Amino acid sequence: MRMPLRLMLDLDRHIREKRRAGERYFPLVLMLEPLHACNLACLGCGRIVEYKETIRDQMPLEEALSAADEAQAPIVSICGGEPLIYKHIVPLTQGLIERRRHVQICTNALLLERFVRQVEPSVYLSFNVHIDGMRETHDRVVARQGVFDTCVRMIQMLKDKGYRVQTNTTVYRETGAGEIEELIRFLARLGVDGMLLTPGYHYQVLGNDIYLRKEEMPYKFERVRDLADRYRIINTPIYLDYLVGKRDLLCSPWTTVTRNPQGWKGPCYLITNGHYKTLKEMHDATDWEFYRTKQDPRCRDCKLHSGFEGTVALDFGSNLKDSWRMVRHYVA
Ligand code: SF4
Repeated sequence: MRMPLRLMLDLDRHIREKRRAGERYFPLVLMLEPLHACNLACLGCGRIVEYKETIRDQMPLEEALSAADEAQAPIVSICGGEPLIYKHIVPLTQGLIERRRHVQICTNALLLERFVRQVEPSVYLSFNVHIDGMRETHDRVVARQGVFDTCVRMIQMLKDKGYRVQTNTTVYRETGAGEIEELIRFLARLGVDGMLLTPGYHYQVLGNDIYLRKEEMPYKFERVRDLADRYRIINTPIYLDYLVGKRDLLCSPWTTVTRNPQGWKGPCYLITNGHYKTLKEMHDATDWEFYRTKQDPRCRDCKLHSGFEGTVALDFGSNLKDSWRMVRHYVA
């Protein structure tokens, strides 16, 4: 299976419980950024620019755990910055696993050896290793030679030790469709459990022009969509249809909420109107229907997976054909 069965069942149960309670806007995924510091300075990273004044801040452990309690999301993605630099990363991971949250550690892989000596494999734990292309491309994007080779070595180590490993690939304007295919085949040979491929986020704080425009996405993602039947690509088929322009989707930014040392970042992972003390404050300050219907000019070129995969998850079951496609995709 491309995704752990337990994760899919927990997600489904969570959605049903929230709906029974009459809630409409609730998180499925918490993006927990306990710090923004990183041991790399990647070209496409908005976080180290947006938060450069507070780059040394680290969230107290109790605050990170209570953010997970507040969000109640079944999936907690620990990101940043580089989460393995966070001084409480081991107790945070253990605390979330004890709460039966599905923890995904989004990492550049450089500090993995130290971490795995302290945290055992678990059905609730997976690693999302950032890898943006084959050796030359990835090392250029992360602005350091040798990182690609380290990622490969770390993926092999994680697999040997029995951890679940996914990869997270950002596709930029310069990434060729041929290289994307080469990377997918290469990662499949490494035995990764899942591959997520998404268009580069157009962070409002970055002025560079490395991101895909909406009209450039179909060409880059057509091949990914074709290969999704044969390889363990974890983007949903519905979202891939959206990326290649075969259908439209509304956005559900409330399904993936972001908490960092400054507070709850709203309205979404990508754009920032403010940071709020509580999730309720963020909800009260945000017109979700405005963002759902992509009316903000900053939504123009956005097909961010966290907004649109949330829509796919919430719509599951409402269309028999789509639901059957999803089931076939994930049990393959
Ligand atoms: S379309 Fe993109 S920028 Fe707009 S709310 Fe959704 S995720 Fe955020």
